Amino acid sequence: MENTHMETECPTLSALAWTVIKNRYLARNCAGDLIETPADMFHRVAASVARADRLFDTGADLSKTTERFEAVLASLAFLPNSPCLMNAGTPLGQLAACFVLPVEDRPEAMCQTMKEAAIIHGACGGIGFSFSRLRPRGDTILQACGGAEGPVAFIRQLDRAAARTDQNRRRPAANMAVLEISHPDIEAFINAKQTRGELRHFNLSVAVDDQFMECVNSGRNYPLVHPGTGKAVGRRNAEEIFERMASSAWQTGDPGLLFIDRINRDNPLPRMGRICATNPCGEQPLLPYESCTLGSINLTKVVENKEINFVELDRLARTAVHFLDNVIEINHYPLRQIEEASRSTRKIGLGVMGFADMLILLNIPYQSDRAVAVAGRIMSRIQRSAEAESASLALVRGNFPCFEHSIFPKRGVRLRRNATLTTVAPTGSISLIAGVSSGIEPVFAFRGRRRINGILYDDIHPIYARYQKDQKPIPKEVFQSAWDVAPEWHLKVQAAFQRHTENAVSKTVNLPGSATREDVRQVFLNAHAMGLKGITIYRDTSHGDQVLNTCTVN
Ligand code: ADP
Repeated sequence: MENTHMETECPTLSALAWTVIKNRYLARNCAGDLIETPADMFHRVAASVARADRLFDTGADLSKTTERFEAVLASLAFLPNSPCLMNAGTPLGQLAACFVLPVEDRPEAMCQTMKEAAIIHGACGGIGFSFSRLRPRGDTILQACGGAEGPVAFIRQLDRAAARTDQNRRRPAANMAVLEISHPDIEAFINAKQTRGELRHFNLSVAVDDQFMECVNSGRNYPLVHPGTGKAVGRRNAEEIFERMASSAWQTGDPGLLFIDRINRDNPLPRMGRICATNPCGEQPLLPYESCTLGSINLTKVVENKEINFVELDRLARTAVHFLDNVIEINHYPLRQIEEASRSTRKIGLGVMGFADMLILLNIPYQSDRAVAVAGRIMSRIQRSAEAESASLALVRGNFPCFEHSIFPKRGVRLRRNATLTTVAPTGSISLIAGVSSGIEPVFAFRGRRRINGILYDDIHPIYARYQKDQKPIPKEVFQSAWDVAPEWHLKVQAAFQRHTENAVSKTVNLPGSATREDVRQVFLNAHAMGLKGITIYRDTSHGDQVLNTCTVN
């Protein structure tokens, strides 16, 4: 099929979006030729996801649901995560973006983890692992997969394996490695990405608890604990380790921090276990073997005449929750344990993209109290609509199977189809398709060049381009890029979204190249004080090698 022909079939897509869709999303035949247009893709996804309605109502009008789903997808008002767009209605059929796998301190279990990771990568999923249960480097153990070499050696093995599974994939494998702050190997972990090119397929996050943060604030030591025996095997100065983390992040962007007690305070299923890990970009805390399907509302589509159309936002949120609940039903899960865990909690993560673009359309600077207020209003509205839709679905389809073990009955909630409903994802790829700013990030650059498959494309922000075309002066106070926004305002926006988001919020605090290690330390401290679940920073010109670089599409 000719590209030009395909492009004319979907005039809403920008040239950049078209390139991304063509290279990664559209179905191809065995010879590698494209066999669908973007419009076909949206129909394929809508029709296959709608089919789940029949499982609960044999008389369900599938054409009506398909039409409703197709309308929000094709208008780019709502998009599910990439695996859903790529695989819905195809033989692979794996639709979730996020997984967490257990890591046990036994050689055969570690080999099993490597095998399971390869299977999930092959099915387009990103994986989070907590390595906190592995005994530290130098401990005695019968070695098979590298046990007594400690967590960092095992992470390296997984990274090498991920590099191998990259071949024949439509995108590079992405993982998150988490280690608790009290693990004896914590310093090796903090420094693990300091050498350029190391652990390209991993983001690193240190799981920091409130006790450690108290020690940082009061200048006290804290214990390093052997994960097998539970005994303290050393003490470190909390402030020194905190500075070490800030220094490494200043250098490379890694590690980020996960505020693990804060995450667990929102765990809807504490009786099923403590949450120890998140997916690769940190927005989705999960129990081992759980998965999650994400989806994002394009906020530029709810702005009308410089005002937010909340009725339309409600409609989109409810359609999205229906869509995502159906996805759980039809997903071809890559492992039996994942299928069981995912079906028993039925976690979904509805979020947003194009927040910064929405602010520009509303004439509101990103760095302002008004923007923070809009963030809160938008997300609380989405959360409430999502709850309403999840309750309506539960009425017909039943509560999620683990409902009675969850926090909801005690809170007086009677109907709930999904253990979690909201997550703010980075939307690295789907925001390119929608042609809007990613997630809740400020616009990275209004004019730039983007490399896709080795080819450089001019990338001019669409609203900026429209101003230029109409020869209107650019209001600089509204066209703020990530570098114009001071770190505390990045945090304020993140906190406003977090207050109304059940899972977590993906956000990178961009710092100028001139930022100091002390600036990073301050961002980390403020993030904790503001009640965030995690924090990631990126300093311009640092030699960071982020797993998911939203500016480069390979
Ligand atoms: P997208 O825009 O492609 O739907 P996001 O950038 O919003 O994805 O990322 C959401 C989650 O999807 C990530 O936290 C991660 O779990 C997963 N993910 C993203 N990119 C990849 C990748 N290249 N490989 C595997 N998983 C990925």
